[in-house]
Amino acid sequence: MPRKPPVVWYPAHSSNYTSANRPRSHRINRVVIHVTQGSWSSAVNWFQNPAAGVSAHYTIRSRDGKIAQSVSDINIGYHAGNWNYNQHSIGIEHEGYISNKSWFTPEMYRSSARLTAHLCRRYGIPINRRHIIGHNEVPGADHTDPGRWWWWSYYMRRVRHFANR
Ligand SMILES: [Zn+2]
Repeated sequence: MPRKPPVVWYPAHSSNYTSANRPRSHRINRVVIHVTQGSWSSAVNWFQNPAAGVSAHYTIRSRDGKIAQSVSDINIGYHAGNWNYNQHSIGIEHEGYISNKSWFTPEMYRSSARLTAHLCRRYGIPINRRHIIGHNEVPGADHTDPGRWWWWSYYMRRVRHFANR
């Protein structure tokens, strides 16, 4: 199994996720890809604010691929806008804006793909676009991230690459 890449913990406030015992309590069968529409630090800080009501498990920094972890995989983050999907997924935020592809650096793709490869192997998530999806692909989602500049074919190639190491 590919090792989990290094993360730095910035724990979300307990009001922004639901404690669980995944994958025993809820099977984990999807990774949901997001874009922050703001800076890495503002996203990470927001998840620590009890007023937020949102959280992702991981947030990747644009310039160097640094990974913040805010919610443990065993717990249910509030990122998909769909309770069923939240229960069974892991949310990964990427720093940047959907309208500006310069935020989507090779360092960020690399770090995210390593993380997703690890998560897929660890939880038995199939590596395909039905199970690694954009927030925009969540039923009922009113969000459009990661948007048209997210390079899915490249990302999926990178995930497969790391998964087979
Ligand atoms: Zn999103």
